Amino acid sequence: MKTLVAIFAHPDDESFGIGGTLAKYAHEGISTHYVCATRGESGTVDPEMMQGYTSVAELRSTELECASRELGLAGVHYLDYRDSGMLGSEDNRHENSLFAAATDEVAQRIIRCIERLKPDVIITHDQFGGYGHPDHIKLNQATLRAYEMLYDIQLVTKEDEPTLTQPSIAIADGHAAISPAQTAIPRLYVTAFSRRFLRLAVRLLPLVGQDPRKFGRNKDIDLVQITSWFVPITAQLNVKPYIPHKERASACHLSQRPPTQQGSFITRLAFRRAQHLETFSRLYPPLKRSERMETDLFGA
Ligand SMILES: [Zn+2]
Repeated sequence: MKTLVAIFAHPDDESFGIGGTLAKYAHEGISTHYVCATRGESGTVDPEMMQGYTSVAELRSTELECASRELGLAGVHYLDYRDSGMLGSEDNRHENSLFAAATDEVAQRIIRCIERLKPDVIITHDQFGGYGHPDHIKLNQATLRAYEMLYDIQLVTKEDEPTLTQPSIAIADGHAAISPAQTAIPRLYVTAFSRRFLRLAVRLLPLVGQDPRKFGRNKDIDLVQITSWFVPITAQLNVKPYIPHKERASACHLSQRPPTQQGSFITRLAFRRAQHLETFSRLYPPLKRSERMETDLFGA
């Protein structure tokens, strides 16, 4: 039986972005797990949503349990860090925040999960953290570090790490021969947005009176800046049959306002249209120059 492990920062990252992919593999008989670094403690939650819960962490863990059932996941595993919130917020400085944790230490916790679950495929955040969330960026760095520690391969150069503007993806020239001992190294993917969809959103939002530089519930997402970040799409999955699962899983995260339930009619429609295709960038095995777009993460 094959195993897929998604490693993301918060309850909802598994559903809003790539819920179709996780549901697809889970329903095709792949043992599909979610390693979630935090319990989303810093998420904005309307007071009325808190009824019956003693903390945001408890509420969001319950939402994740619900999403996990809808997606058909085999398990949810917490790394037990605290949500750091957006860059510059008070929560960054909390002693247990993912932001404050040393990358090597986070990598060690990821290694323990990898050793236990023995995945064939791992998915994590891209090096820009999708929309720049510091927890997403830290998990990308820690997952890559875990690979380097476990398998003695280099995925990122040290100079790349502190800067967030350079793609840290190693493209092999064909000389990266894989030794027999390395054949068990899981394939590694990061999530990748469709630039076309983003550029469309940047054009459409002003028409409905929204500033694309101040997007999202907390107005702290700069879509214009995000369109300048480059993560090459190397795999494109058609998840159309699993959109109902993704939507039901996303609806579980009601406190976080699922993307299909917020914004204007136009943004909701654009989001719905875009979500049939979920896109990824493969970091390992390294890309060959002649390689075609993948339609499966297991190399089929
Ligand atoms: Zn997140």
